[in-house]
Amino acid sequence: MTIFKKIIDREIPADIVYEDEQCLAFRDINPQAPTHVLIIPKREIPSLADATASDVPLLGHLLFVARELAVQLQLGGGFRTIINAGPDGGQSVDHLHVHLLGGRTLTWPPG
Ligand code: AMP
Repeated sequence: MTIFKKIIDREIPADIVYEDEQCLAFRDINPQAPTHVLIIPKREIPSLADATASDVPLLGHLLFVARELAVQLQLGGGFRTIINAGPDGGQSVDHLHVHLLGGRTLTWPPG
C-alpha cells in the first residue's frame, strides 16, 4: 500500500484542500512553490503509464479539478500541472498524481 492510499483512508494526516467521490487533493509535504498541491484518484492507478481507455473520464476530471483549485487557491498569474511517470520521469510514489504548482514564476525546462 502506498502512502497516498493511507492518506485516502485517513490512516495518516494530510492538509486536504479538496475531495469528491473520485479524487482527493492535498498539499505536498515538500513544496516546490508557494502553492504545491497533489491531486490523486481514489482508485489506485500506479502511474499514468498504467492508465487505460476506461480511465479517460477520470484523467480529465483530475485536470479539471487542478483548474478549479488554481482558481480557489488564487493562482491567477498562472500555474503548472505535472504528472511524473516511472523512474526516468521522477515518480517517487506509485499512485498516479497530478502536481499543481504556482505562486511564483516557474522556470523551464525542468531538470
Ligand atoms: P513524485 O515525485 O511525482 O512521485 O511526487 C511525489 C510527491 O509526494 C513529492 O512531491 C513528495 O513531496 C510528496 N509526498 C510524499 N509523501 C507525502 C505526504 N505524506 N504528504 C504529502 N505529500 C507527500
